[in-house]
This record gives sequence, structure tokens and C-alpha cells, in this order.
Amino acid sequence: MNYNSTRNKNTVVSASQAIAQGISDEGGLFVPQSLPQYTLDDIKALAAADYRGRAKKIMGDFLSDFTFDEISESVDAAYTAEKFGSDNPAPISYIECGDRKISLLELWHGPTSAFKDMALQILPHLLTKSVKKTYNGKEAVILVATSGDTGKAALEGFKDVPGTKIIVFYPVDGVSPMQKRQMATQQGKNVSVAAIKGNFDDAQTGVKKIFTNPDIKNKLAENNLLFSSANSINWGRLLPQIVYYFSAYCDMVNEGKINLGDKINVAVPTGNFGNILASFYAMNMGLPINKFICASNSNNVLTDFIRTGTYDKKRHFYTTISPSMDILVSSNLERLLYHLTDGNAEKVASWMKELSENGAYTVDDEIKAKLSNLFWGGFCDDENTKKTIGSLYENENYLSDTHTAVAVNVYEQYAKETGDNTPTVIASTASPYKFAKSVLTAITDEELPNDEFAMVDELSAKTKTQVPAPLAALKNAQERFSFECEVDEMPQTVLSSLNIG
Ligand SMILES: *Cc1c(COP(=O)(O)O)cnc(C)c1O
Repeated sequence: MNYNSTRNKNTVVSASQAIAQGISDEGGLFVPQSLPQYTLDDIKALAAADYRGRAKKIMGDFLSDFTFDEISESVDAAYTAEKFGSDNPAPISYIECGDRKISLLELWHGPTSAFKDMALQILPHLLTKSVKKTYNGKEAVILVATSGDTGKAALEGFKDVPGTKIIVFYPVDGVSPMQKRQMATQQGKNVSVAAIKGNFDDAQTGVKKIFTNPDIKNKLAENNLLFSSANSINWGRLLPQIVYYFSAYCDMVNEGKINLGDKINVAVPTGNFGNILASFYAMNMGLPINKFICASNSNNVLTDFIRTGTYDKKRHFYTTISPSMDILVSSNLERLLYHLTDGNAEKVASWMKELSENGAYTVDDEIKAKLSNLFWGGFCDDENTKKTIGSLYENENYLSDTHTAVAVNVYEQYAKETGDNTPTVIASTASPYKFAKSVLTAITDEELPNDEFAMVDELSAKTKTQVPAPLAALKNAQERFSFECEVDEMPQTVLSSLNIG
């Protein structure tokens, strides 16, 4: 199976090239030329396997220039019980939500307590194998722009992986104290971390510019280095995410929650549109999905897009209590547009050009109709996010993080407005302990301790739940990175970190 660029149909690359390169030369994203098709019998067969077995089958169908052993090795190394707490890295908690039953797909049992681990624990294995196939002998330089969770998950995935170096940029005031501490204390010989004086979109745009800067590219080439991306624009990030939607469906069938063939809805707290897009791919491969519920926080650019067909990033940027969704340019939306236009790369390229030049674009009526047929968009502000955390805790004894609560709230809005009773899987994307302060204020009126770790302990004592071990260990970890730079100093920061200028 080969891959095209969303902005140029004549670009055709192999799976390993798509993963090694991350982004296409003209700025487009790599998309599969076709999708494997699964019948209900195929899904039944997946249901008989464990998570790793499901991952091997699904990823193998996409990575046609990998051997089965290479895929098997990658999957087995990534999804261990040691790293994810059990043999199922993506378990479901079933709860009631009003008079509806919902399935919370918990994607945060990995080493950094956020769903990014689901992809970033396996990406380094896929990437180093891809680089070996396509650019043998080169060292991969991973550049990451993060709104918090990706950075830490990428650092943890790539630390001390031979043949790789990783540089992470995060917005100085755009991540939670816990996220900052996770990154500042990162271990590993091949890692660098820098805070930029700007927001996440500045960081992401800055990284994209560095990727496509020919001078920097040449400098890397001279030093036998090659840029690659661990951001969710990399196909190697998206692919592992398709697996858990199939896996959740299989688990629900096995646990008697649904019958094979029943449709489900999927609700996802959305930022860069990677997670929800993975469920869209799953549906197009044969997974019975009825509706995609796209949940945003106050940065509700996607809600407006789904409702009006106009994507307009010219708006106030809010720093919210769900920082991993504080995004105004959702990169992976470009892939959805490509598929909704049946692969019209020229059209996608022109919309992306409008977005970068004028800050907005409007899709045709036909695309708008397709979009609103499949997707339902809604948003939830900080106050309602906290209310939702409070009521989930009070009524269901379920402790939810801020991002997950946004999705639960928007799902409730959807259910109320449409009356749709389809069983719904809600992606639960982070441990509540990553956002202890917001979660605590949502469940108690008592005065809070000042220190982040005192709040973590308080949350644990109050709710009688356990602090994830890697977060608990941060308390006494040594800080290694405190570097800050301006947005326009990002290119120089990269060259300095690599000791090449
Ligand atoms: C990254 C992230 C999201 C948003 O996911 P996208 O794939 O970027 O849409 C939501 N919640 C948490 C906790 C995250 O880390």
C-alpha cells in the first residue's frame, strides 16, 4: 500500500517513507491510497485476539513494506503490561451518564498518563525501521511542537533510542505545571527541551517552517541527519490510534455490551484532530460507526467548522484547563478534507493556502453536507468542564480529567439535542492526576494547597485513587531543562541543540 500527499496527488511514497519523512515536501500530509476492508467476520476474528494481536493485524495491513516480524517486534515492545499496567493498554470503564450508558475508553494507562503514549510508545520502533529502509545510515532528528502531552510522550518514547535525537518545543505559559515538570525533568542522552514565548500554534507553525526551510535541511544533510516528525501529522502516529477503536468495539462485543454489527458513536475531546480522525479511518475500514462527536473547549474553531463549513482561525485564543486542546489550527483536518473530497489534492491545497494567507476558508456545500452528516460538533467552557467532573465524581464515583470531561459534556449536549441512543464510546485521554488542580477544584470547595504535588496527594487522599507511579516519581526528580526562547529563535535553537551551528 502506498501513500499520497494531501496537496499533491503525484507524490507517491511507501509506508516507511511516509513515516520517515513525516510531512510531504510541499507541506501536505501523507494519506493511504486505499484502506483495508474488514467484514464482520474479520472483526470477529480480531475479537478473538488480544490487543497486541489486533494491532499486528491492523498495522500490518497498512505497512506493506514492513515484514510481519518487524511489525510484531514493534507491537510487542510497545504495548507491554509493564508500561501500560495490564495486557490491555486501552481498557473500558462502563458508566451511566444521566439515563444513558457510556463506555469510557481509557487511553492513559501508559508511561506519561496521557493517550499520546498509545502512539508514541510504538512510533520510535516504526520510525527507526522506516529510516533504515529508506535513508540507511542517517540519524533521525525528531522535532516536536507540543501543547503538553505530546512532548512528554515523545520524549519518553524516543529517549535513548539509537539513531534518533529529539527536540521538543512547548508554549511557556500553555502547559500545566505537571506537564512542565514532566518535560523539564526528562531523562535521556538524546533529548532537548525548550519553552517558547508564544502559544501552541506559534510552536507548531515554527516547527513546520523549520521542516521546510531548505538551508536548515541542507545543513542537516551535510551532517548525515534527517528531520522527522513525531507530531500527530506523522502517519506513524495515526495508524496505532486506529487499533484502539477496533479493540474497543471487540471488547464491547466480548463483554456483551453490544452485538457484532451494532453501530456505535464515538465522542472525542479534540485538538489536532488526530484521535477522532483515527476513528474515521476505522469506520471507512468497516467498523460500524454511526456518528463522530467532535468535542472542543472554548477554542471552538472545529465546532463552528462542522456547523457552518467555514474554518476561521481569526479568533481569540483561550488558555483553558484542557490545554492539550488549546489549538486553533487542527492539522489533521487536512486529511479529512482530502478524503471527503475523494482525494482532490488541488482543492485541499487551495483551502490550506487560504487558511495560511487569510486565516479562513469555506468548503463547498457538498463537502459541508458530508461533514455534518458524519460529524456533530460541540464545545464546553471551563466552568462546565468542572461541573461535569463534579457530577461524574458525585454520581458515578468516576474521576475524570478535564479533557475527558469536555467530551462527556459535549456528548450529553448531543444526546439531549438529537435523542440518539446509540451506544457511545468516549475517548478518555488523560489521567486526572495530570491536571490535579483543576480536578480538585471541581470536586471540592476546600482551600487547596499551593504546591502541585501536595495537590496530587490531596486528590489521592480525597478520592482514594492511586497516583500513577511515574507522576509520583516526578516529585523528587532533578530538573534538567529550563531554556526559554523567542519564536523566531527556534531555528537557531535546533541547530545549537544538534551542535551544527
Ligand atoms: C492530545 C490530546 C487531546 C487532543 O487529541 P488530538 O488527537 O490532537 O485531537 C485530547 N486530550 C488529551 C489529554 C491530549 O493529550
